[in-house]
Amino acid sequence: MSIFSKKCPNCTSKKYKVQYHYKTKNHGTRAILTCHNCGCSFSETTNTFLYNLKKPISTIWQAINNRTEGLGFNATARVCGISKNTLLDWENRFTNLYHVLFLYSLTHCFLQLVIEPMFAS
Ligand SMILES: [Zn+2]
Repeated sequence: MSIFSKKCPNCTSKKYKVQYHYKTKNHGTRAILTCHNCGCSFSETTNTFLYNLKKPISTIWQAINNRTEGLGFNATARVCGISKNTLLDWENRFTNLYHVLFLYSLTHCFLQLVIEPMFAS
């Protein structure tokens, strides 16, 4: 699973066109794409961790932040107003992103510690 993969879920082609845009339940916009290769239509979030999420990203961020700050599982579900199964699903999705987020974190630290001081003086 990648963060923003825009490949056809049917034939993995990266050649697609935007068929139309629609408004999501939480006032965002999302594109429906059509594959040039096989004609398959798919959402731009297909095969990403955002696929089939119903809650706003802000709620998801708050729940994950509460968990990383040490709030318990049941308390986080209660405070965010979500079911335990929803919270468990989100945690599983973000667990799959561990390697990507770890690499991002290392790169960010490297830039701060090594590259930025080179240009500071
Ligand atoms: Zn395709």
